[in-house]
Amino acid sequence: MGGETIATPKAKSTYPKLSAHPIGQWIPNIYKDRIAAFYGGGQYETKNLRAMMKEGVASGSPHVKLSVWGAPNLSRPTFKEATSHNFKETSVGQSFGPSWSTHWFRVQLTVPKELADKELLELHWDANNEGMVWTKDGNPLQGLTGGGERIEWILPKSFRDGKEHIIYIEMACNGMFGNAPGGDSIQPPDPNKYFQLAKADIVAVNVVARHLYIDMWIIGDAAREFPTDSWEQHKALKVANQVIDAFELGNQDSIIKGRKIAEEYLGKDVSSYKVYKTGSKPLVYGIGQCHIDTCWLWPFAETKRKVARSWSNQCDLMDRYPEHRFAVSQAQQYKWLKECYPYVFDRVKEKVKKGTFQPVGGSWVEHDTNLPSGESLVRQFLYGQRLFESYFGERCRTFWLPDTFGYSSQLPQLCRLAGMTRFFTQKLSWNNINKFPHTTFNWVALDGSQVICHMAPAETYTAEANFGDVKRSVTQHKSMDQDETSLLVFGKGDGGGGPTWEHMEKLRRCRGMSDTVGLLPRVHMGDSVEDFFDRLEKRVDDGLDLVTWYGELYFELHRGTYTTQANNKYNNRRAEILLRDVELLATMSSIKSGYKYPKKDIDDMWENVLLCQFHDCLPGSSIEMCYDDSDKIYAEVFETGEKILKDLYKTLAVQNITSSSVRENILALNTMPWYRREVISIGSKQAGIAFGEGRLLTIKPFKISATSDVTVKQTGKIFVLQNDQLSVEVSGGAITSLYDRVEEREIIPKGGKANQLVIFDDKPLYWQAWDVEVFHLDSRKELPPGTTKIVQTDPHKVSVMTETKISDKSWAKTTITLAAALKGQQSYVEVHSEVEWREDMNFLKVEFPVDIRNTEASYETQYGIIRRPTHYNTTWDMAKFEVCCHKFADLSENGYGVSILNDSKYGFATVGNLMRLSLLRAPKAPDAHADMGRHNIKWAILPHKDTLGSTTVRTAYNFNNPIKLVESSSSVSTRTFENPIKLSGDSSLILDAVKRGEDDEDVSRGELAVRKGQSVILRIYESLGGRSKGTIETTLDVKKVWKTNILEDDEDVVEINDGKIAIILQPFEVATFRLQL
Ligand SMILES: [Zn+2]
Repeated sequence: MGGETIATPKAKSTYPKLSAHPIGQWIPNIYKDRIAAFYGGGQYETKNLRAMMKEGVASGSPHVKLSVWGAPNLSRPTFKEATSHNFKETSVGQSFGPSWSTHWFRVQLTVPKELADKELLELHWDANNEGMVWTKDGNPLQGLTGGGERIEWILPKSFRDGKEHIIYIEMACNGMFGNAPGGDSIQPPDPNKYFQLAKADIVAVNVVARHLYIDMWIIGDAAREFPTDSWEQHKALKVANQVIDAFELGNQDSIIKGRKIAEEYLGKDVSSYKVYKTGSKPLVYGIGQCHIDTCWLWPFAETKRKVARSWSNQCDLMDRYPEHRFAVSQAQQYKWLKECYPYVFDRVKEKVKKGTFQPVGGSWVEHDTNLPSGESLVRQFLYGQRLFESYFGERCRTFWLPDTFGYSSQLPQLCRLAGMTRFFTQKLSWNNINKFPHTTFNWVALDGSQVICHMAPAETYTAEANFGDVKRSVTQHKSMDQDETSLLVFGKGDGGGGPTWEHMEKLRRCRGMSDTVGLLPRVHMGDSVEDFFDRLEKRVDDGLDLVTWYGELYFELHRGTYTTQANNKYNNRRAEILLRDVELLATMSSIKSGYKYPKKDIDDMWENVLLCQFHDCLPGSSIEMCYDDSDKIYAEVFETGEKILKDLYKTLAVQNITSSSVRENILALNTMPWYRREVISIGSKQAGIAFGEGRLLTIKPFKISATSDVTVKQTGKIFVLQNDQLSVEVSGGAITSLYDRVEEREIIPKGGKANQLVIFDDKPLYWQAWDVEVFHLDSRKELPPGTTKIVQTDPHKVSVMTETKISDKSWAKTTITLAAALKGQQSYVEVHSEVEWREDMNFLKVEFPVDIRNTEASYETQYGIIRRPTHYNTTWDMAKFEVCCHKFADLSENGYGVSILNDSKYGFATVGNLMRLSLLRAPKAPDAHADMGRHNIKWAILPHKDTLGSTTVRTAYNFNNPIKLVESSSSVSTRTFENPIKLSGDSSLILDAVKRGEDDEDVSRGELAVRKGQSVILRIYESLGGRSKGTIETTLDVKKVWKTNILEDDEDVVEINDGKIAIILQPFEVATFRLQL
């Protein structure tokens, strides 16, 4: 046997035996770069996808007829006023200006027959500036921003009837970022810019091509940005190139085919909101936002228009994109909208009701948090929350400050007291030294109160909703050990604008991609900011431990903002003090004498002060126009305040002083809540001692025999000022010795020069008005002293004055004064400096070397004290080379310390034993003239026994609230004006504000439910950081007492016995009490 073959069954392969032709591996970069060229501009734009984006265009007469009226003198007239004028014919190609002017266009639109049936018709309008579309009846519809930002307005269906339709466009001659001269937007604005109307077309949009364009943008991003070792990246590259290969110019089917290919990567639903309905768990929650700086590179008046433009756009976008949620803060902007644009306000209100337009923040504006006083922060919330409640029936639950320059340590406590448990920000991502370590955490105040803080990991509040933003929401998330979810806050911002249709479309594709191929974090739309935080709070309820951060969120940048625009800061401090006086006196008078509490005037004053605390206004980072505005706003505040005080004087039977000599009917007006005793000058030569408690203090004539003397002696070039407690040696203009005669202790270290003016070269890396950089410290120069002379030798007060030449244009006259010491009261050295300041990019400071050793210095902050290092051990310590203080900074060691008080300054540094108060800067952008001119600055050196205590806190209050002389028409018993409400007990307790209840029936302006009867609100805080006991004593007929939150909601009943209310405050607690009469 043999030879036969057994057939083995074999599978028949069709795999080609021979290679047909060589095929190479894709060269990744080349295939990647090809994608952008497919949908981008440039040499192929007439041959690629871009060439097919429009199905037809109609421009010029008869389809688009234009006429114009220019508003005179940079005015911003209303629709009615503007359209009452004659319009002159104009055309595309014409230019309009100058900067800040307004031009109204009548636009007569006739849709050509051949476009009437197209799917989508838009008006494309681009003049490289901002605009608002109005109906012919005067309803503002939608904003426009040139330069391609948002140039389209969708024509209503009714316009397709072949007839002529009229709209108006209000053109504002400024860009989204004002009128900067060139590419550098923080340079002072060019006053003479003109804007060419480049485009006014009716466009029929190829909707499918537009969709494919977004498909390719996002798939292209995946191809470019996904890691090359992921299959998802290779797939993206493949799909994108397949779409390009399928494309044929002029062939609509090839575009439809392209979209079909794109579906392989993006899924089927990316052209509708249904893409978000898959039920899979998202990581990133998209929230639309449009940050509108209330003033910055444009004045307040332009902001009012920006608000209307931006928010009307969002209402429109919500109609087309049901998933759109838009969060907006700043009560002031809502108020402006209601007053100036009721039509848009009604649209917004309707969307708020639907839950798509979401008020957040709870504050009056997005304010600075370093500089405003504690009471100002309280009022930001009080006025903000009351407006939100009265407009929309609800308060905000999330405090929203994405762009403010650092966050002071008591904010979590105040947020909680304002009904908010959440805080959103992201600004610390700008730190230029240390990276902030958390994105979701509990932020803890000085008193231990906490809020959940979330900082968007995408590190922006103006995200373009790009693939990269979604990706960074996970890759830069630093708290994923606790919770992996995050907010993505997107939309054009700073200059307003908000999300565009492109943002909405891009995010749909990102979501589609996550659900189809994965890898990209899953983004979700349709949830609110509150939904996001609700989930987090729920997780904490269920046992999640969030990481904690105690104390201030110090911003490692923009440290110059504690000092820039000194006059504005001075006005803020004065206005806060004036408001305190006005409210205190008006409260007492309105209860005792039938005087009507001037609620409207007080509201107007507060709203103005709160407005100027906006995060580019008070910090000093706006253009000159804004400070011209704020000067006027403060002038109004002071005028109203003085008017109220004048009326109040009548209720006290006193008036402003008319002649200056010590007479029986001269009294001292006092608004400090404690016993006060001070030497005061009356006229040029006389003096008295004011003493007592209450609103009016008696003055007794100053007699040398009655108290100790104060003297000044000159020996050669050395001057010695001396009273019972202190001896001050002035040599070369500086204090070379400050000797505490009671404690027998020298305060100035050997060779040290206190009160020495020093100057620094101040050219930060970029942000001039904002930043002072660490390297400025290396340029320190002592200003050489000029002559010193004795200028006052009165028995109660002596002074020497030193003239200092700063440069050929600038000088300072610095007067060091010592008053007679009063027994039992700490004496201090008072300094007044008059400065003529004409410098370029220099920084003026004054130094105080002190013989004190401590690794931490203390600084007054709102309702408390914050301690910061005096050394540079770590980069975190060193980053605090310039910090914020309020009325004082203090360096103490066990048993003794020195406080530096000030009347209007906020910048300070303590390095080792050198204390340094920042006085004036000279940045040239964005205000070319910031701080040029005359300044009057006061500070004081207060040495004290023991560590920092109530002596410093109270003296700093007194220093900022000098006693005011008044005269009575007849003899007045000052006892009548003793305060009917007093606080006794631990001296760390401060009665900071006294006011009437917002909703008392004789006070209320009706915005919220009225409360029967009268009440007095007291704000008391613990100032030193220890549990403190006290007693509120009142002679008023108080029926009931509540502890309330800062919104004046009654919380706990507090016992009152015989006019006495016992209170206990926790360290750094802010407590509000409502006394119901
Ligand atoms: Zn801002």
